[in-house]
Amino acid sequence: MSQTQKTLVDSFGRKIDYVRLSVTDRCDFRCVYCMAEEMNFLPRAQLLSLEELASLGQSFVNLGVKKIRLTGGEPLVRRGIVELVESLSALPGLDEVTLTTNGSQLSKFAMPLQRAGLKRINISLDSLVPGRFARMTRRDMLPQVLAGIDAVVDAGFKRIKINSVVMRGHNDDEVLALVDYAQQRDIDISFIEEMPLGQVTSHNRKHAYCSSDDVRQLVEKAYTLLSSTDTTGGPSRYYRIPERKGRVGFISPHSHNFCDSCNRLRVTAEGRLVLCLGQENSVDLRALLRRYPGEQTRIENAISEAIMHRPEGHQFAQDDAPQILRFMNMTGG
Ligand code: SAM
Ligand code: SF4
Repeated sequence: MSQTQKTLVDSFGRKIDYVRLSVTDRCDFRCVYCMAEEMNFLPRAQLLSLEELASLGQSFVNLGVKKIRLTGGEPLVRRGIVELVESLSALPGLDEVTLTTNGSQLSKFAMPLQRAGLKRINISLDSLVPGRFARMTRRDMLPQVLAGIDAVVDAGFKRIKINSVVMRGHNDDEVLALVDYAQQRDIDISFIEEMPLGQVTSHNRKHAYCSSDDVRQLVEKAYTLLSSTDTTGGPSRYYRIPERKGRVGFISPHSHNFCDSCNRLRVTAEGRLVLCLGQENSVDLRALLRRYPGEQTRIENAISEAIMHRPEGHQFAQDDAPQILRFMNMTGG
């Protein structure tokens, strides 16, 4: 096992210290912006095993990565997820393990995840209206998600954040209600612009596009937003509200391209290292893990070399065509 602490820097001088590992492409929801109604998921053998995920985590930490976010698909439908959090949290040199979830199973998992060392948690919530929630996620499970959020608040996580994709004509009239909901619980909320990942048939992405500036104006009808330099290592631009604990963030892949400061890599559920969310190029780490089991240095060299091919960035066009064929559940949000 390699013991040297290195730093990953790409050919544009961007330091990479954050990795998102997708632990499954499966999900108990079918959000309209993320998946088609009918999905074919990967056979289990094509997913990275928990051991392979833990070994990759170790390699990234050896390469100087400080933060690993587990995502998917829905990470909490992957058996053994708590044990994976535990083994990653124990890696010396890693500052934090975090998780992004749809919240449907958090009532059951909040405490075990907290005990396993999970520091922060992001929960997706696009609507507080049951019928609308069911239309956006294609699952009638709002009560479970709200109970899950209560469970993480009670479990005492250091930071909790709601993520909401805002779609015009779907949930843009709920922006203030969602901010109120987060404020009442002293938790952060980030609003996300929908990205053209995968072919969707349920809506026209161009018509549903709602820019972060538009969302910010909606929030400012009721709250004073003070721009802040806060960062959690992700792409959110944060604003503070005077006298309040919870912040309001905006993730704006269309309107405020954040490529020049991108510090992130993603690994898909089948072990492809994705160098940029908005580009197709990737490297097959699973093949290496399986051909050379235990040869960590070989994996680390492959990652270091791949970094040098990292593109400068992405540019999403404002039409309805998917620019990336992978759905978001494949890449990991
Ligand atoms: N299932 C978990 C969840 O929903 O939080 C984790 C995976 S999900 C792919 C991660 C994040 O990506 C979610 O916050 C979701 O809203 C967001 N997302 C999915 N598809 C998206 C798209 N096309 N554009 C923007 N955000 C998207
Ligand atoms: Fe599942 Fe998350 Fe995609 Fe929704 S956004 S379908 S919860 S993976």
